[in-house]
Amino acid sequence: MSALNDLKARYADINALSSAIAIMDWDQQTYMPRGAAEARAEHVGALSRIAHELSTDDAFGKLVSQSKNEAQSEDDLAMVRVLQREYDLKTKLPAEFVAEKSRLAAIAHEDWVKARAENNFAGFAPTLERMFEIARQEAEFLGYTDHIYDALLDQYEEGAKAADCVRMFEALKGPNVELVKAIKERGRPIDDSRLHGEWPNPLQSEFTEHIVKAIGFDFERGRQDAAPHPFCTTFSIGDVRLTTRYKPYIGSAIFGSLHEAGHGMYEQGSPMAWDRTPLAGGVSLGIHESQSRTWENIVGRSKAFWQRFLPDLQAKFPTLADISLDDWYRMINKVEPSFIRVEADEVTYNLHVLVRFEIECDVLTGKLAVKDMPEAWNAKYESYLGIRPKSDSEGCLQDVHWSMGAIGYFPTYSMGNLLSYQIWNKLVADLGDVDDMIARGEFAPILGWLQEKVYRQGCKFPPKELVMRVTGKPMGAEDYLAGLGAKYRAIYEL
Ligand code: ZN
Repeated sequence: MSALNDLKARYADINALSSAIAIMDWDQQTYMPRGAAEARAEHVGALSRIAHELSTDDAFGKLVSQSKNEAQSEDDLAMVRVLQREYDLKTKLPAEFVAEKSRLAAIAHEDWVKARAENNFAGFAPTLERMFEIARQEAEFLGYTDHIYDALLDQYEEGAKAADCVRMFEALKGPNVELVKAIKERGRPIDDSRLHGEWPNPLQSEFTEHIVKAIGFDFERGRQDAAPHPFCTTFSIGDVRLTTRYKPYIGSAIFGSLHEAGHGMYEQGSPMAWDRTPLAGGVSLGIHESQSRTWENIVGRSKAFWQRFLPDLQAKFPTLADISLDDWYRMINKVEPSFIRVEADEVTYNLHVLVRFEIECDVLTGKLAVKDMPEAWNAKYESYLGIRPKSDSEGCLQDVHWSMGAIGYFPTYSMGNLLSYQIWNKLVADLGDVDDMIARGEFAPILGWLQEKVYRQGCKFPPKELVMRVTGKPMGAEDYLAGLGAKYRAIYEL
């Protein structure tokens, strides 16, 4: 057997283990009875250990380097490149360090849940301090040339640097803060109280499946279930799972489903021949988020979309029957500075991310002590969003990420927002008036374009290269700012 074939076979084994872990995790978040928790943790732990061993041992590393000489086709070359990167990332971190980090993460998660419930930042601070110390060590193991943040961010977004984030937020900050302020001070107010109430779960489930199917999520190769936190997970190209959640705000299930379906259609769009290879699936968190945001915000929060689907919604929920298309469109696009990132609207969202990015950088570089984090957090909310959290639970204790050791992750959310508009503008330039298509419920040309340009490329090109290939320029803020500005100035009559 050639090294390349050997490598593919070995990767397929690792992929089978990862799929098994993903199925167990999906089950845990959807249907698993509580009594299974302990055994499930053991099962996942054992499979993860075996997968880690298989993908980091010397034999695997040798196969990767031998395959470099054998790979001829573009796909094989790309596959070896991806595996070399993964192997390097995993083997740069010593086994004891990885074990120490997961031990700390387990404790930190418990500490964080408790501190958030009791609004006790001081109780969590020592653990958080250790987690940032672990992140500093991790960055040193991984290596970087310019900024310590680069090493951490690169794990989620290959090739992205702190300097890219600084540039991105510099461009966003002024116009975004200005727009939020203008809406607050001069915008025609929006009352969305009609969207809050009791909505039967089975009807929400039926309606969200209806729209998700209409935009092109393939239910022959996937399904949707309910979970406390919406997510999308992939077992193979032929089996992609979405979850949504039912809350007293009807937009929660609708936009949660569209968001996850965006992730899901990206995953379903890889060429079948790439199943069980490292080329299948989305290439980075930022590009992935650009697709979920496209279907959630650009398509799902457009007037054209509701021209098509508002009658269907009103047939299911007759209490909404007298809302006009114009009013509905304004309600689902209401902008309001709030404390909680995951509930933030499209306009304020990046400001939440900016706060976290600045704080992460300052703590990592020692400019800010962990104990002073709440004060820095609150001051930034006041300056960017015009509101000051009254407690740390709704301030710097709100996100789970830092307790998990996911430091360097947040900017990918904003990259997704920027890229969603940048890619969309290229799509519109190619396809012409897509509003008409959307209003008629014809999504195939839109999905087809995204499949061809983005989804079918899988992980073949590094994210920065993919952005250049698709849009002809590097990631920038112009398309996003222009699109967002035009939409919300019209909605708020500014
Ligand atoms: Zn997402």
